[in-house]
Amino acid sequence: MTVTAVVGGHWGDEGKGKVVDALAATADMVIRYNGGNNAGHTIVGDRGVLRLHLVPSGICHPNVDCLIGPGVVLNPLALFEELEALEAMDISTARLRISSRAHLVFPFHIEIDEATEEARGRRAHGTTRRGIWPVYADKAARVGIRAGDLLEPAFLRQRLDEGSRSASAFLGRAVDGNTLTALCTEWEARLAPMIVDTHPIVRDALGRDAAIILEGHLGVMRDLDWGLYPYVTSSTCLPGGACAGAGVPAQRITRVIGVVKAYTTAVGAGPMPTELRNGVAATLRDRGQEYGTSTNRPRRCGWFDGVAARFSAEVSGFTELAVMKLDVLDGFERVKICVAYRDGGRLLDTVPHTAVMERVEPVYEELPGWDRTSDARSVHDLPDEARAFLERIEEITGAPVSMVGVGREREALVPSRVVGGVT
Ligand code: GDP
Repeated sequence: MTVTAVVGGHWGDEGKGKVVDALAATADMVIRYNGGNNAGHTIVGDRGVLRLHLVPSGICHPNVDCLIGPGVVLNPLALFEELEALEAMDISTARLRISSRAHLVFPFHIEIDEATEEARGRRAHGTTRRGIWPVYADKAARVGIRAGDLLEPAFLRQRLDEGSRSASAFLGRAVDGNTLTALCTEWEARLAPMIVDTHPIVRDALGRDAAIILEGHLGVMRDLDWGLYPYVTSSTCLPGGACAGAGVPAQRITRVIGVVKAYTTAVGAGPMPTELRNGVAATLRDRGQEYGTSTNRPRRCGWFDGVAARFSAEVSGFTELAVMKLDVLDGFERVKICVAYRDGGRLLDTVPHTAVMERVEPVYEELPGWDRTSDARSVHDLPDEARAFLERIEEITGAPVSMVGVGREREALVPSRVVGGVT
């Protein structure tokens, strides 16, 4: 059995939720390894549309253990809402566990996020204002409060003292420790049965060679180290982040699925070389329903950025690629792939410094479009032109395309092996 990391190959929102849901049908465990409720994973299943923010995308499968890993930052109020939505859809959350090492998002983190974005004015980073970076900042500053602290009242008291002191200094007003204690008491009452040390669970699963999926949020272009800093998230999206954020040794991850769309989208600020502001962008946004799952913000849209995808494949070691939303390109006479960036007289084949990325021009290759992929249920059903497009993506990224998304529904995920002929 394998440990599979599912990693975003672009700016996020690539369709990782759908890929994880599909893989979970034959898996034992799904572990979410980073981020918080700034992420949004959409699953279209038997019971309708499910929007997950914190709960791993394996939750629809009743035999799959779902863990919120130590690398996640957890807003309990957001989790409660999600649990209620799942229960209303009659989806059991009995197999959900939260790592005692996961850090908690408090209302003051959200306040800090909002105040900082407001103060940045036109230079705002475009955060989701869910308090994610302030929690990771507190974690690094060692003033964070972890889920396991809720179960240890004396220890929690000390942690809250430190946490509220630090937040008060930042906000310039007193953050009341008693209010935080009362909040923690409420949270503990609901979360206690779910909070565990996930290490023995993961160790035992690895010991019996269980099929484990590691679910990431966002994508490499938003990675704290490898993304377009400062327009990044505050955690590691790469499979290396999955090792730390889920508690799985590096050599146990044998499969890394990079998820990309057949075009490119981004939410929030920062460079995106293939961004279009014409009718093509409007068509992509409209057909692809490109509005954020967490914030409903319209996503910026453009042609497939092959440079960013290859860079992601290289730094993440993608063993395969899932190309989603191919159906959104149906009906275009010609389609384009960005194969290099031009910076004045220089041609770049990798992602440069953010300042350079701001000014590069995309160099496109044009390919013939195709009529329709949305009915395809096998790679043989795909038009030749669509297969040629996927083959070009394989050549550019160096990763074989193993699945292709051609619609929102579960069954619209075509297993594929395009390189070296169709299998
Ligand atoms: P994630 O954060 O990477 O899981 O992606 P999101 O869930 O935020 O965004 C993906 C969106 O695309 C969701 O609304 C999905 O239902 C939808 N989607 C996923 N795969 C496909 C596909 O192959 N075709 C179409 N048309 N929609 C898809």
